[in-house]
Amino acid sequence: MVKAVVGANWGDEGKGKITDMLGKESDIIVRFQGGANAGHTIVNDYGKFALHTLPSGVFYGHTTSIIGNGVALDVPRLFEEIKSIVDRGVPMPKILVSDRAQMVMSYHKNFDAYEEERLGGKSFGSTKSGIAPFYSDKYAKIGFQVSELFDDDLLREKVVRIAEQKNVLLEHLYHKPLIDPDELYKELMSYKEMVEPYVCNVSLFLHNALKEGKNILLEGQLGSLKDPDHGIYPMVTSSSTLAAYGAIGAGIPPYEIKQIITVCKAYSSAVGAGAFVSEIFGDEADELRNRGGDGGEYGATTGRPRRVGWFDCVASKYGCRMQGTTDVAFTVLDVLGYLDEIPVCVGYEINGEVTTEFPVTHLLEKAKPVFKTLPGWKTDIRGIKKYEDLPENCRNYIEFIEKEIGYPITMISNGPGREDIIYRNR
Ligand code: GDP
Repeated sequence: MVKAVVGANWGDEGKGKITDMLGKESDIIVRFQGGANAGHTIVNDYGKFALHTLPSGVFYGHTTSIIGNGVALDVPRLFEEIKSIVDRGVPMPKILVSDRAQMVMSYHKNFDAYEEERLGGKSFGSTKSGIAPFYSDKYAKIGFQVSELFDDDLLREKVVRIAEQKNVLLEHLYHKPLIDPDELYKELMSYKEMVEPYVCNVSLFLHNALKEGKNILLEGQLGSLKDPDHGIYPMVTSSSTLAAYGAIGAGIPPYEIKQIITVCKAYSSAVGAGAFVSEIFGDEADELRNRGGDGGEYGATTGRPRRVGWFDCVASKYGCRMQGTTDVAFTVLDVLGYLDEIPVCVGYEINGEVTTEFPVTHLLEKAKPVFKTLPGWKTDIRGIKKYEDLPENCRNYIEFIEKEIGYPITMISNGPGREDIIYRNR
């Protein structure tokens, strides 16, 4: 049985916590896209952790954590991250790395930074983790696949070819130091040494695991609105954030994904540039930002303050639709307990007309939010275990949003910990 945990919005919806929680019943947890550019924050018995590359299942002794072929594999970052959790008392996780994953090279990170510098004020707000240059090279067929580390003849020829091509840009566009093919070869050899014990034919491993009836969890990074095809292009990431891509980025048949848990946060947050219709500003925003998440809405990778806003039914309905949602996990609801009234964005006004369908980017940029205000519940709902025990206004908020987005909210997260969860039969 395969389940996917994915995001409905811009990311930071609390997927890490939901994955960590569902990890208990999973045998295998697979990262299928993205790289070290975004992070998941997880709070469990070992403490509080920010993971960027490792799947959120690494804290359980019984799970195998897999870096799938769809991931932008940053080898040194992966091993730093393993060390950082082991140093804090977490048992050494069982890790497998797909032989078809490609590697983020140091020049990808440099190109990311150089391009942001070149674009100046028009930059995309990249985290400079090399993700866009990495995926560009993957699809331009000039990336380095893990399997290629074991073909020395190919590698020696390829480093010269790649350096030659990259150096044209470095010299003439960016005016930066050039790549030395010998150094590049050494970098690859250091990655080989680190990764060799973990390399695996992952699609075959998962094929056999499925035959044995194992439980597999696919863990997405970011959310629907960051998908390169269906998101707010070009303010998107460079690999698909949709559950459907989980099949490709892990190497399993699409029909094996039986449950798609789309994580929606009870209000909105976004990092980086781009349209954000229900965004709020000033003191109102500062208060939500500081109370948000677990210790404030600040990026897990960058520490940047996140932009915040009210729940956006238009974006979330679309985000859930593009994921193929079977279940919604509604998170961080406890944070809203301070508000007398809670505005919810129920429509977009674009050129004088109101729509509830999420538009393409140039129309989205013109959209003005249509808000409906619901009464708050003014209590701390942390610790509540049963749906019926939630205050009535809180249940009304959940049920109103469920109706607007049109997908069943079956899990409600009312705190950052594993046990802060309310299940609801729909
Ligand atoms: P992800 O990238 O989707 O995994 O999300 P992040 O980890 O970046 O952001 C979620 C933040 O909210 C983290 O700090 C979590 O510990 C925290 N969090 C998750 N669920 C809840 C919740 O139900 N309540 C509160 N207060 N915090 C939560």
